[in-house]
Amino acid sequence: MDPIKCTACTDCFAACPVGGVPMDFNFGRSSSKAIFFYSPFPARKALINSQKCEYIIKGKCGEKDVPPCVEVCKPQAIDFLQKPQEIELNVGAVVLACGADEKKSALYEYGYGKYSNVLTSLEFERLLSGLGPTSGVIKKNDGTIPKSIVFINTNNSSSIYFMSLVAEAMGSIEKIQGINVFVIHEDIAFQKDSYEDYYKKSNELGVQYIRIESKGSVKINDEKDGNLNISYINKNKKEENIKADMVVLSTPLNLSKSAKKIIEISGIENKFQQVCTSLEGIYICGNMQSIMGIDDTIIQACSVASHISEVLSSARQSETLLPPKKELMVVNPENEPSIEVVICECGLNIAGLLNIEELVNYTSSLPFVKQVEVTPFGCDGVKVKELLQTKKFNRIVMGACSPKTHEILFSIHCENAGLNRFLLEIVNIRNHCTWVHSKNKTEATEKAKILMKMGVKRASLLEPLEDIIIPINQSCLIIGGNPAGLACASKLANMGFKIYLVKSEIDLYNALDDKSLGKKLMNDLTHRKNIKIYKGSKIGNIKGYIGNYDIEVIAPDEKEQINVGSIAIATNKDMKETETDWEKDLALQRDERNFFIPSIGILNLMDTNTEGVFI
Ligand code: SF4
Ligand code: SF4
Repeated sequence: MDPIKCTACTDCFAACPVGGVPMDFNFGRSSSKAIFFYSPFPARKALINSQKCEYIIKGKCGEKDVPPCVEVCKPQAIDFLQKPQEIELNVGAVVLACGADEKKSALYEYGYGKYSNVLTSLEFERLLSGLGPTSGVIKKNDGTIPKSIVFINTNNSSSIYFMSLVAEAMGSIEKIQGINVFVIHEDIAFQKDSYEDYYKKSNELGVQYIRIESKGSVKINDEKDGNLNISYINKNKKEENIKADMVVLSTPLNLSKSAKKIIEISGIENKFQQVCTSLEGIYICGNMQSIMGIDDTIIQACSVASHISEVLSSARQSETLLPPKKELMVVNPENEPSIEVVICECGLNIAGLLNIEELVNYTSSLPFVKQVEVTPFGCDGVKVKELLQTKKFNRIVMGACSPKTHEILFSIHCENAGLNRFLLEIVNIRNHCTWVHSKNKTEATEKAKILMKMGVKRASLLEPLEDIIIPINQSCLIIGGNPAGLACASKLANMGFKIYLVKSEIDLYNALDDKSLGKKLMNDLTHRKNIKIYKGSKIGNIKGYIGNYDIEVIAPDEKEQINVGSIAIATNKDMKETETDWEKDLALQRDERNFFIPSIGILNLMDTNTEGVFI
């Protein structure tokens, strides 16, 4: 299969005579053809199951010499002569982010593999997913809806296992009205305040928690009526039992097989110092190091990226090639708008909650709209490319998700297909519509129509624009002299950037032992040419924008004005400026615990909503 040529059109699926192949992605709870997508998520590319494909097994498929899939594949992406290739890459650093494998054997004692309604938490996640085998409807193995589910935390080594069950218990309550949901667990030590908050909220919403003495006391048996009987010793050392239609088990995770193989091949020691390994230039992140949540995984990935930016700083831009200038369609503002509208189903995120047909009919009736098409996932760019290449349209409206996460991607699709990206309008019918009005399809559809009408009107007024190049200042202000601020300053300075470090304390580290991390970092920074440290100082007013922030630094004896491209905030949570209020200048907000609120809608907790400002 040539993944570049495959457009994910699915014509080959319809042509393939071999069906009923269990899908690994859904843990065998759904089936596909012998040619299939591994998962429903982009970037989807067709794959052939070599154990099931007639042509691979018998050398013939169908009546003709050419197999049916090859015959219907217009871009000629299917190539049965393809051989495995060994590709050698010359790189400066390697990141191992191979994830983890489930250790299902640890679950046999709970009846996993014996009782069909005892599932792992990952299997249950597929049932909750709108793109899963049951389209997001939680069903027992016989197709009926469970009235009670018991979640059992089988591993107490990390609160992540417990939190994944809490999230799934919440999902069950949202999906099935009146369901009884229990979580059986040992004592929990929450790794974060936010985890504890979520646990409490779930309890208020109806998730019932049963604390037990030891997970070894939990026994599961099936009953004649098809129910499962769960017995356990409670925290008061009394034996109790409950009945449930379904049991979901947290699954212990181990270093993945591929990770073990890479560790063996590369010769690195299987002991990691945070993201660093025993070989310089090889880094790890995520579950390779320990079991962690998505937010921590992303923070760790950013840490690896920062290490590598430091290691490869001398090579920065040495091999950068600018992409060739794109040939874009000439659009004059006075040309009559000819608008193409693409409505993204976003799996069931949008299609499952709106009357798509009604929305298509309504949008088609709007002025200047020439065509309205629906696509399963707009982010793969297939439909945008297909339509824009006809050269019949000079504006495009995407009815999809948030521009905050997808504008760059949609803009790239737009320009790759030959249309100036400023002629693209995104209408957020997911976050602003289906997600917030998920309980009322009729009203959500009405709102989607209004949003579409506004988007189409705006698109008709768009004009093509050229990029303006504004020089940016390659420097960073770091506010706060605690170890986080010092480490950040050290990393950025090693990358070659000019750093201004403003700290309120004058001699915080003087009294410390020379071996302490803070003292070592401080000593190191003091001798750097590209770091200026303002001790006993604070921030005055801040003006400007990403790439060009004008900052007033108030030192004990004088005020100084500096200009930086970005700002990293590493203040202690209690440090709140009152006189100057630079936080207000940067439009930053704090939560009720006085922590800065990170960017909304983006998983990286180190970003703020103000561009170029990080916490
Ligand atoms: S027919 Fe070709 S392009 Fe379409 S999904 Fe199949 S392999 Fe991909
Ligand atoms: S060769 Fe036949 S069995 Fe194999 S993927 Fe193509 S259509 Fe399906």
